Amino acid sequence: MDEQSNRTDIYSNPESSVDDLQSASVDVQIDLNAQEKSAENISSEESEFGQGNEQSKPQEITSSENLSDENVAMQFSESDILARPVPLSESLTSLQDYPTDAQKKAPQEPVVEPENITADTPLTVEEANNPVQESELSATEETTNEANLSAEDSTDYSSVQFLKDLYANGNECITMANSSFPVNEETRTMLALFSNGRFFVVDQYRYDGRVLGFEYIAKKRRLQIGEPELVTATVLKDIYEYAVQMRANPNALTEEENKEQARMQRDFVTVISRAAMNQVSDIHIVVADHTTVMFRVNGLMQTEMEYNKEWGESFVRAAFASADISDSNYAQNEYQAAQKLGRTPLRGSGGRLVLPKNVLGIRLQFNPIAFGTRYVVMRLLYADESNASPEAAIADLGFNKRDTDLFYQLRAVPTGIVIVSGPTGSGKSTTLQRNMIAMLQERNYETNLITVEDPPEYPIPGARQMPVTNASIEEAKDREFTKALAAALRSDPDSLMIGEIRTLSAADLAFRGALSGHNVWTTLHANTAGAILLRLKDMGVEDFKLQDPTIMRGMLAQRLFRKLCPFCRIPASQHPEHPSVQRLKNAFGDVGVEHAYLRGPGCADCDFRGVKGRIAVAEFILPDSTFLNLTLKGEIQKAQNYWINDLDGRTLRENAISQMLRGIIDIEEVERWTGFLDQPILA
Ligand SMILES: [Zn+2]
Repeated sequence: MDEQSNRTDIYSNPESSVDDLQSASVDVQIDLNAQEKSAENISSEESEFGQGNEQSKPQEITSSENLSDENVAMQFSESDILARPVPLSESLTSLQDYPTDAQKKAPQEPVVEPENITADTPLTVEEANNPVQESELSATEETTNEANLSAEDSTDYSSVQFLKDLYANGNECITMANSSFPVNEETRTMLALFSNGRFFVVDQYRYDGRVLGFEYIAKKRRLQIGEPELVTATVLKDIYEYAVQMRANPNALTEEENKEQARMQRDFVTVISRAAMNQVSDIHIVVADHTTVMFRVNGLMQTEMEYNKEWGESFVRAAFASADISDSNYAQNEYQAAQKLGRTPLRGSGGRLVLPKNVLGIRLQFNPIAFGTRYVVMRLLYADESNASPEAAIADLGFNKRDTDLFYQLRAVPTGIVIVSGPTGSGKSTTLQRNMIAMLQERNYETNLITVEDPPEYPIPGARQMPVTNASIEEAKDREFTKALAAALRSDPDSLMIGEIRTLSAADLAFRGALSGHNVWTTLHANTAGAILLRLKDMGVEDFKLQDPTIMRGMLAQRLFRKLCPFCRIPASQHPEHPSVQRLKNAFGDVGVEHAYLRGPGCADCDFRGVKGRIAVAEFILPDSTFLNLTLKGEIQKAQNYWINDLDGRTLRENAISQMLRGIIDIEEVERWTGFLDQPILA
C-alpha cells in the first residue's frame, strides 16, 4: 500500500487508482513483478540516462539548476509512475517494438534507443517522413523549436478536425485523470500522451525536468511514445477538454457488459492497427489454456503476444460482434465466417471505432479447435496506395522487365484467357488487380471491365465489381459464384476478371467468355504454369478449348520471395563453408559466390529479421499449339524443354536465381522454393 501514498504527489486522484487496480487484477499481478524488476535496474540506468542527457542537450539550456531539478523530478516521478498497472492496449504495443511508420519510411535512420532520445530536437512527422529534409535541418543547425513549429504548419492544431482525428479509433488520452497513466494537474499543463503513442508537449516545457522525466518513465515502462509534437498551452488545454467531453458523451456505454465489449472492441482495433502498420497479411488467434496471437508478416508466422484464456474468449466474441456480415449468432463450436468492411464503424461502438484507413476490410474465419475453444484467422485486405504508372504498378510487385512486357502484350490482345496461378498467399490476386487497373488506364477507361470475385478484395477504379451473394455452405457459394459470373457475361463486358476458377461450371463460363470474343483474366490454384492446363483438364474442360492458343493466351505461375535486408545481408563469400554457398559455387562458380548473399542476423532496419518485404517471382508462358498439345498429352518434360528452347521461356527458378545474383533474395530462400542450386529443377 505504500505505492499508493507515493503516488498521491503525481496522481491527482488516488481513489480512482485504487479502482483501476482492483478492476485490472491480472494486470496488477504482472505489473508488480515488472516493478520489482525495474526497481533493480533503476540506479544503473539512471546514471547512464543522466549522462547522455547532458551531452546531447542543446546549448541554450546549460544552467546546472535546471539539470538538478530535472534529476530530482525524474527520481521522484519514476518511483511513482512505475507503480502503475498498464492496461492491455499498452501491453500489446510493448510486446512488439516495431518501428513506427515514420521510422520505416526513413530507413537510413537507426532506431534511437530511449537513452539517446531525451534531449534531441524533436522530429515532426513531416521531417521523419522526409529524411533529406531532416538531415538538412541538422546540418544547418536550425534545430530550434521555432524551426520545428514552422515545419508543422500543415497540421492545424487549433482545428476541431484535429481533435476528432486525434480521438478516432478509440485512441485515448492516457495521461488524463482517471485514465490508465494519469499525471497530476500541473503536468497536464505541459504534456499529453495518447494510447497510440502521440505525444504532445507545450513548447516552452520541452526541456522541463518533468517532461523529460515523464518520457523516460514512459519509455522504461515500454509504453508507446512518439517523438513529441510541440504545441501551445491552449492547444494542450483543448486536448484535455475534448477528452472530458468524450467521457461525458451520452452515447458512452454504461452497463458493465457493454463496457467490457467496448474495451474488447478497442483491443480489437488496437490489434488490427498494429498489424496494419506492419502490413501483416493474417492474424491468427488460438484460444486454449491461454491465448496466442500470431501475425503473418512477409509469409512468416510470428507470435505477437500471449494472454489469458478469458481475454481471448472475449476478444473473439468482440471481433465477431464487430463484423458487418456474419451469421446471426456467435456459436463457439461451429465454423463461422464473417466480414468487416473498412469504411463502416464497428458495430455497437457508437460510431467511434473504425479500422485504420489503409485497411479495406477483414475476412474472419472462426473455427472450433481441439484442446481449446477457438481458432480465429483474420485476413487483412489493404487499400492499394500506389498510384504509379500502369507499368510501374506491375514492376513494383517485383516482376522483371520481360514479364512486365508480356503483361502489356496480353493486355493489348482483345480475346482469350490469361490465368495467374500459385498457391494461397502467393500474391496472385494482387497481380491480377494491378494488371486490371493498368488495362483500364491504357484503354482510357473506355472499356467495360466486369469483375466477379468472392468477395471483391480490392477496389479497381473504373471496373464494375460484382459481389457474390454471401452463402455459408461451400456448394451454395459455388452456385452463387456461377450465377454472378453468368450475369456478368450477360452484362455486355469487354473484359472479365474472375477472382478464381474453382469449379467446372465457373471454368465453362470463363471459356464461354473467351470463345465469344472477350478478354478473360483469372486465377487458379496450381503450382506451375504448365500445371494450369492439367488442372483445367482434370476439372473437365474439353481438350479442344485447351489446345487453342488463341483461347489459352497466357499462363503465369508466381511465388512471393522474401527480400533480404540490404543493411545486414551477408556476402556469400564470407561463408564459403555454408552448404548452400558450396552448391552455389558448383552451379555458378566464383562469379555466383561474389554476387549472392545470405540472410543476415537482422538489424534495426529490418526489425531484426534479416528480411524486409517481398517480391513476386514468376514464370510466364505464352503458349503455342505445340506446347499445349505436348502438355495435354502428358509429355510434361518435353513441353518444358520446348518452351525453354523454342519459345525462349524463362522458368521461375531462373528468375529467382537472377534476383539472387542481384542480392535481392537470399540463397537459401531460392533453394527452399526451387530445389538445390547444383541439381536440375524438379518439374
Ligand atoms: Zn537488417
